[in-house]
Amino acid sequence: MTERDHDRAIELIARRGTEDLSSADSTWLESHLQACRQCADYAADFEKAGQLLRSVTVTATASLVTATQARVRARAIDLQEQHARAVLIALSFCIGVLSSTFSAWLWWKFGGWVAERLGLSSAIVEPGVLFFLILPALVIAVLMLVFPRPLLEETFLASLVRERPGGNQ
Ligand SMILES: [Zn+2]
Repeated sequence: MTERDHDRAIELIARRGTEDLSSADSTWLESHLQACRQCADYAADFEKAGQLLRSVTVTATASLVTATQARVRARAIDLQEQHARAVLIALSFCIGVLSSTFSAWLWWKFGGWVAERLGLSSAIVEPGVLFFLILPALVIAVLMLVFPRPLLEETFLASLVRERPGGNQ
């Protein structure tokens, strides 16, 4: 047995895992491995390393996939949450504008009469009008601060997540 035989055996062992050997090569390798303890040990180690590498790769891939899926799902929920929040804020703003407009209209219609009836001076009436004009927006702002994630929003989010085919539930 020459050094060339061992080299050839080692090369064939490496190629065996990734490509089909010709039957002549394969037969030669088998007979060499039976005769040569050193190359047989190398072949066994090579196989073991290959299996280990494959199993590690599979594990890493599976956990990576799970982690990535979890991250993607979290990101989707984040986006939905931001969207829900934007809708809620826009809705609150519209309600605020509507109610302020309505208050202004009411005051324009009846304010003078009310002030006159109650005998209020304009020093009190004017700041009072301003207060009532901004009151709805103020109330909404306070409510949103007190309940940063109101029940409505949670329910909305939960229904969105449940609708997703890949989502939990
Ligand atoms: Zn050998």
